[in-house]
Amino acid sequence: MAWSVTVDRDRCIGSGMCIVYAPGTFAHDAEAKAVVLDPSTDDLAAVRTAVEGCPTGALQLTEEGE
Ligand code: SF4
Repeated sequence: MAWSVTVDRDRCIGSGMCIVYAPGTFAHDAEAKAVVLDPSTDDLAAVRTAVEGCPTGALQLTEEGE
């Protein structure tokens, strides 16, 4: 299944939860905002957990197809 994930920088408060759940996909930049690294390094399930665990709903997961 094809999927992608994006970060809404205005919503991100830098909690780091997404980095805990999917450390290959997310990192903090110099402003402590989350950035997307390489989503292919984490399972979709881990990325989904990270998206659901974001306290501010800053992450958007888009899944295409089955
Ligand atoms: S979990 Fe949400 S608020 Fe926390 S660093 Fe990741 S995107 Fe930002």
